Amino acid sequence: MTRLADKVVVLTGGARGLGQCVTVALAAQGARVVVTDIVEPVYDLPAGAEFHRLDVTSPQDWSELARALRDRYGQVHGLVNNAGILRSRGPAGRLQHVSLEDWNALLAVNTTGPLLGIQAVSPLMTEGGSIINISSVAGAGAHLAAGYGVSKWALRGLSRIASMELGGAGIRVNSILPGYVETPMQTQTPERFVDAWVSIVPMGRIGAPVDVAPLVAFLLSDESAWITGADIPVDGGAMGHVGLKVIADAMAAEVGGA
Ligand code: NAD
Repeated sequence: MTRLADKVVVLTGGARGLGQCVTVALAAQGARVVVTDIVEPVYDLPAGAEFHRLDVTSPQDWSELARALRDRYGQVHGLVNNAGILRSRGPAGRLQHVSLEDWNALLAVNTTGPLLGIQAVSPLMTEGGSIINISSVAGAGAHLAAGYGVSKWALRGLSRIASMELGGAGIRVNSILPGYVETPMQTQTPERFVDAWVSIVPMGRIGAPVDVAPLVAFLLSDESAWITGADIPVDGGAMGHVGLKVIADAMAAEVGGA
């Protein structure tokens, strides 16, 4: 499929995890993926992809990248703000214990990074451009990781504001809210957390990067030309029941149903 043929797409945090899967999916659809990260990719980049070292919190890195992209391509079609950090395991994630250092780092990478990306890359976009911010279900509910949750709520807010400001230029901005997805970010996650997560997922399983990547491709494509300002969960239905699954489960146990 070539629905992204020759479209230049900048992706942050593309060295591994979800970013790796998205890179492969976009390249397979013909995109020229500009993969960025603070570390080298752990995989061989697919044809059509190139790597640039970029720290999303650095305005200088963003302006250097924008200059290089302007010189090389003239314009950019897409930006996927995917880089993110968690720093929220155990007591360190809780409201009373989150350190100022972690709080500031979470906001810097997860929220300020996408702002800097939008400021640097959107001037290179023309009508039809598309920006995707990878938020989280943690950005739509009271997640127990305080700093992470707040950074992802703020990212959704940034998306909405950007969709309003850039809409007149024909540039769309949407948020994707993944549920728990098995990536290197989650390698230290306790089994108890994963079990609790699965218990609130109607589809009864955790997610994989391949569950999310096709939506990124769709939102970059012209097929989604009138979709902007949207928050789209990819979570097996976890957000759909707004916490009420526990009642359905209790009643199923009561009446002996499945
Ligand atoms: P990951 O840790 O596997 O990959 C994140 C990548 O971001 C890494 O390659 C890392 O080097 C890069 N990165 C970190 N700080 C950076 C910086 N300052 N500048 C540039 N790159 C930086 O995580 P993942 O699971 O692939 O997560 C991708 C995105 O999806 C993140 O925004 C994450 O918050 C979000 N998300 C993940 C899950 C999940 O369960 N895995 C769920 C919801 C949302």
